[in-house]
Amino acid sequence: MDYFYYCKEELYCEDVPVSRIAEQVGTPAYIYSSRTVQEHFHKLKKAFSAPGRAPLICYSLKANSNLAICRLLKSAGAGFDVVSGGELFRTLSIGADPAKIVFAGVGKSIAEIKYALQNNILMFNTESFQEILNINLVAQRLNKTARISMRINPDVEPHTHKYLTTAKEETKFGFTIPDAYKIINMLNRFQRVKLVGLHTHIGSQILQITPYLKALKKVLPMIDECRRLGHPVEYLDIGGGFGIYYRGEEAKPAAKFARAILPLVRKAGCRLIMEPGRFIVGNAGILVTKVIAVKETNRKCFVICDAGMNTLIRPSLYDAYHRIEPVRKMKDERIKMRADVVGPVCESGDFLGKDRQLPPVKAGDYLSVFSAGAYGYSMVSNYNSRPRPAEVLVSGNRYKVTTRAERYDDLIRLENK
Ligand code: PLP
Repeated sequence: MDYFYYCKEELYCEDVPVSRIAEQVGTPAYIYSSRTVQEHFHKLKKAFSAPGRAPLICYSLKANSNLAICRLLKSAGAGFDVVSGGELFRTLSIGADPAKIVFAGVGKSIAEIKYALQNNILMFNTESFQEILNINLVAQRLNKTARISMRINPDVEPHTHKYLTTAKEETKFGFTIPDAYKIINMLNRFQRVKLVGLHTHIGSQILQITPYLKALKKVLPMIDECRRLGHPVEYLDIGGGFGIYYRGEEAKPAAKFARAILPLVRKAGCRLIMEPGRFIVGNAGILVTKVIAVKETNRKCFVICDAGMNTLIRPSLYDAYHRIEPVRKMKDERIKMRADVVGPVCESGDFLGKDRQLPPVKAGDYLSVFSAGAYGYSMVSNYNSRPRPAEVLVSGNRYKVTTRAERYDDLIRLENK
């Protein structure tokens, strides 16, 4: 499923030894495999293509908004799912086709709506009545008609972390089904919006198919009702959320999801839009970190690294598990130590992994934190005034620093002196 592998105890990304990149670029650093990104995109596209009907895959930028990765996906034919003016700016900066951009998010400002309308995006995935009013108003001022879809909150349980659940009624996302019906009935009053799609995104890191099917069974009857009322619904956007396995197992084949979902979409007679993020980039990236110290107390052993919650917040925020292994393995794999792998940040919640079995590591060794390609760099912070790390893209036997590591002067760049 990815192109990170060990050869003679040495970790490689495609054809490049990871230790070479760590030595030349410094740590911490995110390293991405372009081949993995491309393969995951094509797998998904192939699985969800019906004869003569390819889905529009709008890569969800929030997972990893690195421009080099976005360019790879654009060349492969992807569109983009954005949730802010900033994300839209990123996609436009690489010449993405606005006709393949969808704009989601519960809090789009008037300025963001204007920016998106001026750039003729495919549609807004709307999340509140106020938002529809705002879009109608801005479109009127610009003498345009805005294409919208409505994000439906189908009240289903996606069986993932509670912070990654977005389709229960108690979450802030989308329209509940009764509210959606009310609004669909009065949409004709708004001259400057055209309802062209329905949207649902039920959460992230979802490993089961059933929640998708439950959601679709609630959303599909709404399409008929929309059409009955004269709304030309052409698109069904099922969002993202397909999970990956963080413990090294093989991910559920996209084809399994496709076999269950496609027949329902076919019945609706809509073009399918998907918004995958994690599925495409999650396993396409690692975080390389250097061990600063190994500290033993009466209770525990701590492997203290130069990457922490500021560099990868998923373990602290979601209690997420990431596989951690040395970049250079020992020949004898039987010797192990048990330790918490922690960062340098002044918080007890700053850790990359708890109670891990590792070969005996020492200061100066490099560790790889696997499956860090999604929600890694895009959630990096400068907490404790630590500079952001570099990002590196590997293609075959070459690599390129796509984002340089910040320096101390970057930390005060925006402040008035
Ligand atoms: N679409 C929307 C509206 C989202 O909020 C998200 C993530 O939260 C995604 C797509 C991408 O999700 P994932 O990375 O799990 O595929």
